[in-house]
Amino acid sequence: MESWHLGEVFLRNRIPSLATKIKELCQEDPDHNLDDPVTLRGVEPQVFALGLDWLLTGKLGCSLLRSGDNAANESNIGHFATWCALYVFAEDYELPDLSNATIERIKNCLSHAEWSPSTSEIKYVFKKTKEDCPLQKVVTKEVTKRFIRQSLPDFQEQVEEWTKVLSCHPEFHAKTINSLKIQFALTSRRLGAQRRGQPPKNRLPQDLSNEVIDLTG
Ligand SMILES: [Zn+2]
Repeated sequence: MESWHLGEVFLRNRIPSLATKIKELCQEDPDHNLDDPVTLRGVEPQVFALGLDWLLTGKLGCSLLRSGDNAANESNIGHFATWCALYVFAEDYELPDLSNATIERIKNCLSHAEWSPSTSEIKYVFKKTKEDCPLQKVVTKEVTKRFIRQSLPDFQEQVEEWTKVLSCHPEFHAKTINSLKIQFALTSRRLGAQRRGQPPKNRLPQDLSNEVIDLTG
């Protein structure tokens, strides 16, 4: 088991929710002192270490970038799962700046590595985070992108896998078919405009335009 020594002032200033929890522990159990070790459940040591790193340096380093690996490399596996776990940690311990930094990190990583969220990653994100949070949106967007970009023959070969992915969580299922529908609506508008020789209209009614996914990037 990995352990860290963290000062009371650091905890109070940087992870107040944890400082409060430790204080409550001491109040409930008179034998528990502030200096006694506390076991954190539900967070992997490597994820906690990343969180601490960010608290101390304000940076979230990407191991893929450092090693110069590309998207096809096997070390990509689990890369995004770690960031998802860090986002969940940030939400659980009420660290909104870390939540935002993690989302920025994920978006940055997506610019140099592909992510096909697995069923276990999708279920983890949709079970552990709040509805419509930025991480759920990123997951939905990545799956939609992959679905649309895949060629028809490749898709037909993987129909069973796709069925498993799309049905792995009810909310994710609803969000993804909604996002696919928006993509189809946008595509038919563009095609219609092209046929009529008009410049394509990118605007959708207000309620849809907020969710428009830019697949050109
Ligand atoms: Zn990365």
